[in-house]
Amino acid sequence: MTISERLTEPALFKTGAYIGGKWTSGDKSFPVYNPANRQTLADVTDVGAEGAKTAIAAASEGLKRWKKTSPFERCRVLLKWYDLIQRYSDDLGTLITAEMGKPLREAKGEVAYGAAFIEWSAQEAARVHGETLPVAAPGARGWTLRQPVGVVSCITPWNFPAAMITRKAAPALAAGCSIVIKPAPETPLTALALAELADRAGFPAGVFNVICGDAQDLGPVMTGSPEVRMIGFTGSTEVGKLLMRQAADGIKRVSLELGGNAPFIVMDDADLDAAAAGVAQAKFRSGGQTCVSPNRIIVQEGVADAFVGRLQAKIASVKAGDGFDSASDIGPLIHDEAVDRVDALVKSAVAGGAKVLTGGQPLADELGGSFYAPTLLDGGSFDLEIARSEIFGPVASVYRASDETQIVQLANDTPYGLAAYLYTRDIGRVHRMTEELDYGMIGVNAPMVGSASTPFGGVKESGIGREGGKWGVEEFTELKYVLLAGVNG
Ligand code: ADP
Repeated sequence: MTISERLTEPALFKTGAYIGGKWTSGDKSFPVYNPANRQTLADVTDVGAEGAKTAIAAASEGLKRWKKTSPFERCRVLLKWYDLIQRYSDDLGTLITAEMGKPLREAKGEVAYGAAFIEWSAQEAARVHGETLPVAAPGARGWTLRQPVGVVSCITPWNFPAAMITRKAAPALAAGCSIVIKPAPETPLTALALAELADRAGFPAGVFNVICGDAQDLGPVMTGSPEVRMIGFTGSTEVGKLLMRQAADGIKRVSLELGGNAPFIVMDDADLDAAAAGVAQAKFRSGGQTCVSPNRIIVQEGVADAFVGRLQAKIASVKAGDGFDSASDIGPLIHDEAVDRVDALVKSAVAGGAKVLTGGQPLADELGGSFYAPTLLDGGSFDLEIARSEIFGPVASVYRASDETQIVQLANDTPYGLAAYLYTRDIGRVHRMTEELDYGMIGVNAPMVGSASTPFGGVKESGIGREGGKWGVEEFTELKYVLLAGVNG
């Protein structure tokens, strides 16, 4: 069955570019694969640098109208987009599973999670406002305006093909910005389906644009064009640094959600069953390919054996397989290079003294796609490469440490600072440790930290800016100050 045959609404299967309210296709294209079986799903138009320029010009036109629209109107259009996404949640889930690999129920969960940002941002549109300020001069008045930043370039990754777009697009559009989105080349089909639904929702031409193509061609135009005032990016720290350098020339605003090296800390007073379930939940979402995935599971020595036993039982029952098979708990990795990278990390950890308790090998031959076995490693040293870099795969790696002070020091010993997890029932520890951990988000006895109403983002090399909640919308606004001299002043 082809991908469009799987959809209830085949018109959501798009392979062109959505620019200035119109679908276009070009001569140049690139293939999109299903990582579960390596079959080609589609050939998608590569718009090249010229296409990126056209999209930015269209967004500049769209901005003129959209920024003057009433926030109540923006709210209505956004809610319409939200409703359409909910209506076609099964189809969007199908596209995500096909091009990214995650199990279908998880893909639909991502659609709901992503849609929640649209609903929240829509309602927030009317709450963007300035303030009246006291000023010294007699009779004078000062006030602030919150205005849209302008045209925003959004560059998104493949691990959440829908949510990483809605998390940027919705607040930007709510604030009155226009956007040009470049999805990852691995997962353009979900992005293009979202564009089709945005078109039906009624965003004016040019407000919402999606273009695909080679990052080397599109990237410099999306960061360098003078009309672009902000770059919203989720992806690797390496590319985030490059984009920030490119943005520096035009002093453009950046919002960057970058890599992580999340510690998952289990203290000796923790509920060990809840902690093991929490690791499994946080670790295997998107096959371990999330920036908030627990990367270093740090357990206090006294409970380490008991905890590892529980975790091993959980991980041994995690089943890898095609995301369209309802028996699969995790899908494939995004491609074969990802499998090779994860395998190399595991092999070097084992050479460095870690023990494989379950998994520890690619499943590509057995399952016919880019699969890696759900894996548990124990006893590694914090100096291993696997503890230093982002694993981005279904490998849980446990480390042992003695006391609170040492655990906080080890947890913070990384250039990253996105998410951390802390399992303890001691309220004193909760306060001390959450204040000392250098992370943007901390889940205490909670394995999932992100939601539409809360700030998502990191410190240190994990990024700048926050997505979600009122902060997410504020990112896309400029604060302007107006002083009106007193008539008799
Ligand atoms: P990953 O390694 O997980 O694919 P990347 O940071 O490479 O993460 O990719 C995230 C997004 O950034 C994708 O849309 C990708 O195409 C884009 N990207 C990669 N390199 C560049 C670049 N030089 N300029 C602009 N975008 C880029």
